Amino acid sequence: MSTNNGDRIPIYYIPVMPTEWNALRHGLRVFESKETDDYPWAQGEKPKIYRRGLISLITVKRNARLPLMGHLEKLRKEGYLEGLMFDSGGFQMFRRTGYTIERLERDNLHLYQEQPWADSYVLPDFPTPPDDPLPVMEEKARRTMEASVNFFNKLPQNLKEKSMPVFHVRTEDHLAEQIKTYSEILDASNQACYAIPGIRKRLDLKSMELIHMLVQERPGLKIHSLGVASLPAAYCMHRLGIHTYDAVSPTLSAAMGLLHFGDELVSFTDRREDNPNASKVKRRRQGSKHGNVTLEELEQLRIDTGHRCPFCDKPEELKRNMEYRQLHNLIVFDEFNLYLRHYTMDNFNKRWPQLHDWLASVLGESEQPTLF
Ligand SMILES: [Zn+2]
Repeated sequence: MSTNNGDRIPIYYIPVMPTEWNALRHGLRVFESKETDDYPWAQGEKPKIYRRGLISLITVKRNARLPLMGHLEKLRKEGYLEGLMFDSGGFQMFRRTGYTIERLERDNLHLYQEQPWADSYVLPDFPTPPDDPLPVMEEKARRTMEASVNFFNKLPQNLKEKSMPVFHVRTEDHLAEQIKTYSEILDASNQACYAIPGIRKRLDLKSMELIHMLVQERPGLKIHSLGVASLPAAYCMHRLGIHTYDAVSPTLSAAMGLLHFGDELVSFTDRREDNPNASKVKRRRQGSKHGNVTLEELEQLRIDTGHRCPFCDKPEELKRNMEYRQLHNLIVFDEFNLYLRHYTMDNFNKRWPQLHDWLASVLGESEQPTLF
């Protein structure tokens, strides 16, 4: 990895797309308006919140699939959408009982071939939560490898070149085995997903070490991270050489009445006692010092983080309108890239001091900002 800040590429947040065209169309209409075009964006230009996306085809209802895919393909061909990734949907499907990796394989093989125009195709994977005992985790990783190789071999050449195997690893041995098993796939596509068994928004040291090893083993590999999303996580992943990451947090938080500001997650009401549940949710999820903010505190957060957008300009509307909260949250995540330009190892140290020394030692540097 280069230690020269000037030639490092940015890390992009990829939003999870709605699974119905009507929902996406409505969001696009509100976001792509004259008001947002003319808005004095703090960062000098309009954010690109719907320019990249991730979607699990198997989670889209059968009758919603054709209209959604037709419109997305059109947006991709017109160049509005700059990249679309199909996720295998393993994470969602294995929450249902009776779903098998063989079925995931069969369903996705059919769906992927129906939609050959997207940019990346995640191969079937069997997700393994951090509390899986090691033998269970290893069995799931083995079945993921088997299904991925099998699936890859059945894909036409044009999709082989856009396929992404998923790394599920806890040890150096797992990593070595998966790099070896996936070598033909990685040679064909040069991209992969890495499932970080992070606890909520936090990276763990072992994952960081293993990601660093993967980057060393396969220099130039385009890595998408599944699992964690927060400003210090984005900083760390970016410094380690990860290119993209996704998270449902902006939309999920909006549905729960929560707003992102930089690295804070807050709920917003006129009076603190109005929304005790949101405050509880927030404390559990992030431990922010702001908690349930008032109108004045919301304004202060905007000043502190340098964020403004047409949606949090109207706090009354923000309170009522989930779509406004969603758009605001997506804009904040899009802005992470800008914050990262000035984010330093010192900032990182203040948030995650226990991981700072390792990262500094790997990068061989400490206080420089990540200019790109
Ligand atoms: Zn805003």
